[in-house]
Amino acid sequence: MVRLDSPPTSLNLSLAYDYDLAIAGGGIIGLTLASALNNSGLKVVVIEAKPQSVAAAKGQAYAVHLLSGRIFAGIGVWDEILPQIAHFCHVQLTDADYPQAVNFETTDLGTEVLGYVAEHQALLKPLQNFVKECENISYLCPAEVLETHYQASGVEISLQMDGEVKTIRTRLMVAADGAKSRTRQAAGINTRGWQYWQSCIVAFVKPEKGHNNTAYEKFWSSGPFAVLPLPGNRCRIVWTAPHAEAKAIVALNDEEFLAELTRRYGAQMGKLELVGDRFVFPVQLMQSDRYVLPRLALVGDAAHCCHPVGGQGLNMGIRDAAALAQVLHKAHEKGEDIGDLAVLKRYESWRKRENLTILGFTDLLDRVFSNNFLPIVIVRRIGLLILRRVPPIKVFALKLMTGLKGRTPEIAQKV
Ligand SMILES: Cc1cc2nc3c(=O)[nH]c(=O)nc-3n(C[C@H](O)[C@H](O)[C@H](O)COP(=O)(O)OP(=O)(O)OC[C@H]3O[C@@H](n4cnc5c(N)ncnc54)[C@H](O)[C@@H]3O)c2cc1C
Repeated sequence: MVRLDSPPTSLNLSLAYDYDLAIAGGGIIGLTLASALNNSGLKVVVIEAKPQSVAAAKGQAYAVHLLSGRIFAGIGVWDEILPQIAHFCHVQLTDADYPQAVNFETTDLGTEVLGYVAEHQALLKPLQNFVKECENISYLCPAEVLETHYQASGVEISLQMDGEVKTIRTRLMVAADGAKSRTRQAAGINTRGWQYWQSCIVAFVKPEKGHNNTAYEKFWSSGPFAVLPLPGNRCRIVWTAPHAEAKAIVALNDEEFLAELTRRYGAQMGKLELVGDRFVFPVQLMQSDRYVLPRLALVGDAAHCCHPVGGQGLNMGIRDAAALAQVLHKAHEKGEDIGDLAVLKRYESWRKRENLTILGFTDLLDRVFSNNFLPIVIVRRIGLLILRRVPPIKVFALKLMTGLKGRTPEIAQKV
């Protein structure tokens, strides 16, 4: 057994648990869940396959919603994150070259900013540092979950660490091991969804002029094209295009790539300079049939994936983590078994439907805008006109995009 250095915390003293819950995957979602359980009285282990520095080096960046910022503030990591990320105060939404843009401003919501943009390491490293300081959290990294055996009273997990296979026993297993979750597959949970006809190109540029803390979402018929501000006057480009086109674009030399980029971006920010590599990601919509089974819960991409339009995926996962932490903490305080299906169902009924709404919203956005069929073009231009002219609808859309619709986890109300 791995580290049985303090007494088991089982309700039933005849059973020996090494931990109350084990989290497979120490990405941003797994670590957010663990951190939100600091001081909960639950003994937590996070098992992450990649070495810490490798996990943090992922060349991704994300739009981070206001609610996600509040969750990080409630956990106590926001002060470390905030200086390393950019914020945006304006969002401009346009339908290709159609001149009537929809402009969202902070005055629409009455907030100081509309959202943030963070590189992967700016979120992951503070969370890694945080869990290492928490007395009730063990962080096994690098260590890989190999097999999981579910029993009525607990879960036995085989993991590989330091070249050895070890076994730990826990009340609850949480899968935070990403879209291809081995834990979800091994538990036989089916998923529904589809691969999109588009891939997503991600690149980083430095424009000649200031980005002015503005986020742009431009809907071309080939797919959505987003420009998000980053620190150091850099911008993150998230550019969706049909597979073959995306593959051809990413293979262009730097000069040709920048010319294509400028054609879609426009010349409003002057000359663009490429900074860093560019990547292509496949894009899929996926929802797990169940988020929970007895002694198992899924969070983040292990439970659902969506189109990157609107930057929702990571933010949904952060809300899953905060919601699950709240449900488990309360159940533990009441003396309930946190692996019991009745407890876990509270989490599923909170998050599954909310996530489905977002999956539907991103899918609708992509289908309605990646389209040149005249009746659809007319309908969406009317939709944009309504967004511009009817303030309650504009505020509703903005709240949906910034995570302020839906049930707020208590941790986000702490500060
Ligand atoms: C092109 C693109 C752009 C995006 N932009 C945005 C955006 O702007 N905003 C946004 O909110 N979302 C965005 N997303 C979605 C976002 O990237 C994901 O939702 C998010 O990264 C999921 O995080 P996760 O922690 O659930 O999974 P992952 O980041 O995949 O983490 C899973 C972790 O589990 C570990 N692991 C896997 N198997 C095991 C095992 N057996 N044992 C131990 N550890 C294991 C892995 O090493 C990894 O660290 C985007 C996605 C794409 C593709």
